[in-house]
Amino acid sequence: MQDKLTLMIPGPTPVPETVLLAMSRHPIGHRSADFQKIVKRTTAQLKWLHQTSGDVLALTGSGTAAMEAGIINVLSKGDRVLCGDNGKFGERWVKVAKAYGLDVQVIKADWGQPLDPEAFRAALEADTGKAIRAVIITHSETSTGVINDLKTITSHVRAHGTALTIADCVTSLGATNVPMDEWGLDVVGSGSQKGYMMPPGLAFVAMGERAWTAYERSDLPKFYLDLGKYRKSAAADSNPFTPAINLYFALEASLEIMQAEGLEAIFARHDRHRRATQAAMKAIGLPLYAAEGYGSPAITAVAPEGIDAEALRKKVKDRFDILLAGGQDHLKGKVFRIGHLGFVCDRDVITAVAAIEATLQELGLAKAAIGAGVGAAALELAR
Ligand SMILES: *Cc1c(COP(=O)(O)O)cnc(C)c1O
Repeated sequence: MQDKLTLMIPGPTPVPETVLLAMSRHPIGHRSADFQKIVKRTTAQLKWLHQTSGDVLALTGSGTAAMEAGIINVLSKGDRVLCGDNGKFGERWVKVAKAYGLDVQVIKADWGQPLDPEAFRAALEADTGKAIRAVIITHSETSTGVINDLKTITSHVRAHGTALTIADCVTSLGATNVPMDEWGLDVVGSGSQKGYMMPPGLAFVAMGERAWTAYERSDLPKFYLDLGKYRKSAAADSNPFTPAINLYFALEASLEIMQAEGLEAIFARHDRHRRATQAAMKAIGLPLYAAEGYGSPAITAVAPEGIDAEALRKKVKDRFDILLAGGQDHLKGKVFRIGHLGFVCDRDVITAVAAIEATLQELGLAKAAIGAGVGAAALELAR
């Protein structure tokens, strides 16, 4: 049905009407005082969201631009980095690091499993010569629905003394607690189409004090993504290049909504939706893909044994206008993923669960009594 599409993918995520309307006005000059006011205001709001007194810079691009910028602004040719890889995004940061000629040491875990903090501790402790310059890790691994223990891994990086933590928080920021300063994160990357409740197009890189010190010695090639330029402009409430002005209107509106809800309430909502979705899938006999206890607050990956996940996903879309995400790479057809990130309410979760149950019924694939999933979700939501 026209205009009925509900996005329950891990990005782009649903966008509130207020945010859409904020965007639908004529652009203003990006060197005007009016625009400077917006930059000033959103910069303060972004620091609040990141729980940092450091810099949070906005770039025109998607989350990958934020991460690439983070990597190339604090590292130099041939630097050794430790890269966590337990899914598609972990794989991506390995590729980016290699593309820039970094000496990449990969710490892997099977897809569906979390990265083992002890493996990071061991590698960092063994590095007595202090060759490791950075640890690159994905907090919420969207491809598998696994949340990694970023806090513990970062504490091991801090104990090393000189290595930096570069964290992909693209689907954890605005979904769960990521206190940048308290945990000692040096670089945090994120993107507007995820927890920010905005359309795609803005990327955010937060840089702590230690990251800026590393920036001074960094010699990797960069121009558009040279964060020094953005820092200098930000000091004058401006941008070095023409920014995505209308997305700034959206950013201001979305961060205002987030501040009105409050960080604790936002995190509690995502946790509730994670629990409800997990309970519902278990109740209808569809196993979760992520290891028990490591489900992401942003996305639940489901591995419906004996059922073609793609066929199920397509049917849910055709019948109910709810878009779920498929599995990536070798998980295609084996896994579907339910996004519950950003502008998602209890009703959305109940509806998605009901649609999945009804679709299984229609396909003759139901393994539990109809309503079992909705019941389990409702119980979690009522907790
Ligand atoms: C979406 C996402 C990204 C960024 O992807 P883009 O398509 O470049 O926005 C990075 N990491 C994770 C974990 C993501 O979910």
